[in-house]
Amino acid sequence: MEGGHATEPSSTSAPLYAEDSYLKEFDAEVVKAGPRFAVLDRTAFYPESGGQPSDAGLLNVGPRNIRVIKVLRRGRDIYHYIDGDVEVGEVVHGEIDWATRLLNMRRHSGEHLLTGLFERSEAGPKVYSDLKRLEFQPSNLDEGLLHRVEAEFDGAVEANIPIRIYYVSRSEVDAEGDARKMMFLDKIPSDIDRLRMVEIPGYALTFCFGTHVKSTQEIGRLKKLELSEGKKLRKIVYFTLD
Ligand SMILES: [Zn+2]
Repeated sequence: MEGGHATEPSSTSAPLYAEDSYLKEFDAEVVKAGPRFAVLDRTAFYPESGGQPSDAGLLNVGPRNIRVIKVLRRGRDIYHYIDGDVEVGEVVHGEIDWATRLLNMRRHSGEHLLTGLFERSEAGPKVYSDLKRLEFQPSNLDEGLLHRVEAEFDGAVEANIPIRIYYVSRSEVDAEGDARKMMFLDKIPSDIDRLRMVEIPGYALTFCFGTHVKSTQEIGRLKKLELSEGKKLRKIVYFTLD
């Protein structure tokens, strides 16, 4: 597959995490640096966005091991906030804190699956989600529906369905009459034509720039789904994985 650069906000760093979300180590060159930060020509560190937190880890520069504390996108640059200083032109070896990233990918992919399951069971439009909860409004979600979704989730995990990532052009997306797709499209800058689609075939399909596990089995089973009620028919579902 061709690279995902065009689908992301344009960037000085090649987003290796978008090409291969299982990449744990990489080499790169420092293209911009200052007190306690570095911008690299390529990076596997995921910058915080879309409800998915940033990666942490290490930048090894010669014998020095510099900690990467947080990674944020600022304009066209992906800033690595570090506990040491590097210089432009230096070659670094990056190592992602893999245990944390994998957990984030599992929860985030679980968020996709739950979104698909709730939406097709007519829980109402999803208005917010992150790695711990989904919110629907207006919604008539109840405990019965919650238990059905719980069982369907475990069934999908057991079926070990591959999670597909592919690119389509904006004009190929038939957003007519789909309020949620329209909302998503509106948030994507108009100069981005290639959209990154994330599909769990038969369950969920959405635009997403995040990192995902390769199949539903990797998400793992649900430990708990909890329902909470907000104002104006807002229903909040908290989820935790085993
Ligand atoms: Zn995603």
